[in-house]
Amino acid sequence: MATETADFIVIGGGIAGVSVACELSARGSVILLEMESAPGYHSTGRSAAVMSENYGPALWSRLVTASRSFLESPPPGFAEVPLVTPRGALFLARDGEQDQLQAQADELVRRGASIELVSAEEALRYCPVLKASEFVSALYEPDCMDIDTDALLSGYVRMLRSRGGRVVTDARVEKLTRAGAVWDISTPKGRFEAPVVVNAAGGWVQQVAGLAGLSNRNVVPFRRTAVTFDPPQGSDIHHWPMTFDVAETFYFKPEAGRIMVSPVDMAPSEPCDAQADELEVAIAIDRIHKYTTMDVRSVKHKWGGLRTFAPDHEPVIGHDPEEASFIWLAGQGGNGVMAGVAAARLAASFAAGEGVPSDLGALGITEENVSPGRECVAGANAEQPVVGSLEAID
Ligand SMILES: Cc1cc2nc3c(=O)[nH]c(=O)nc-3n(C[C@H](O)[C@H](O)[C@H](O)COP(=O)(O)OP(=O)(O)OC[C@H]3O[C@@H](n4cnc5c(N)ncnc54)[C@H](O)[C@@H]3O)c2cc1C
Repeated sequence: MATETADFIVIGGGIAGVSVACELSARGSVILLEMESAPGYHSTGRSAAVMSENYGPALWSRLVTASRSFLESPPPGFAEVPLVTPRGALFLARDGEQDQLQAQADELVRRGASIELVSAEEALRYCPVLKASEFVSALYEPDCMDIDTDALLSGYVRMLRSRGGRVVTDARVEKLTRAGAVWDISTPKGRFEAPVVVNAAGGWVQQVAGLAGLSNRNVVPFRRTAVTFDPPQGSDIHHWPMTFDVAETFYFKPEAGRIMVSPVDMAPSEPCDAQADELEVAIAIDRIHKYTTMDVRSVKHKWGGLRTFAPDHEPVIGHDPEEASFIWLAGQGGNGVMAGVAAARLAASFAAGEGVPSDLGALGITEENVSPGRECVAGANAEQPVVGSLEAID
């Protein structure tokens, strides 16, 4: 089999990989390698698909802000449907949690968000199935949006292909060697070469770096469980917000005519085809019964997904400190879909040797604060074992 060459090779076909590959295809030739038979099979296809500029740690939320205009007004022809639609978010405080809710409200106002503080009774006008007696007060944030993840992912793939980029599926990267000025990459679909590689392998980023002979960067996956069930008969769920408790023990939202609920579990995991945890499924149902008037008669669908974090939960984007031609796009946690647009622009800019785009710099993003070389990401190298192994890929 002949070796295929490109200016850039991207490893991973989730939202991170397809978006950075698309960005790079405006600068040179690109090949994207995905181990599954289609893009989006792992975390990207399993998310709650919401966008809130107020969700997640500071730098990620700035990247959400920087992604918003693209999601609201994508380039002509990018998607046939809107990428975002209004959802709204409701945060509920129990007795004793009002200070926490107020602090959250103050922070949102500081960031310029519009919010409304209401009593638990008043919150029923947003979500009529709440057991108001369980809560004292609530914060409503109207600007939270649903994202059409499929439309976003396929829009990027289409644009990538229209610019001559290649998406190679069933192409798990098994070997990655730096030979002179190029990376030589072996997959079951053949060999590929490029001077620059982008590591966008989600839960597998450490394994991919390990294949390249690079140090562990302490970016590890955690499993989260989700469940869907039918809403009460006759209820109009369409306008219900994404509803959280401030203590972070559950969230639920309308999802394709059903209700999706997660017990917001965060269990360290091997990189794998994550499954729902049965205990967490039971906890999710229990939370619905405890805090709402809904009755979960049967689970319609349940799944697990990986969210991958650096120790400080902030982005890991940039040149590997040991090999500058190896670019990380990792540590997306719970922000990878909503912040993916700006994260991809940042990673592509590093891959092309261009530094931080000026609009992201104006938001306080620097090469240092997202670097895979920053202390907390690199610091535990010697002690931290790599979570998972290549054998765990299935
Ligand atoms: C339950 C849940 C709810 C969430 N809710 C939200 C939300 O509301 N909003 C939001 O923004 N985010 C949310 N997230 C987080 C979001 O899903 C992730 O941040 C995002 O999908 C990460 O994208 P990714 O491309 O990095 O990873 P992935 O989608 O996992 O993609 C990585 C890809 O790399 C491939 N790969 C791995 N190793 C190799 C190899 N050796 N060779 C070739 N390919 C390889 C994998 O097959 C995979 O397709 C949620 C996540 C979960 C689990």
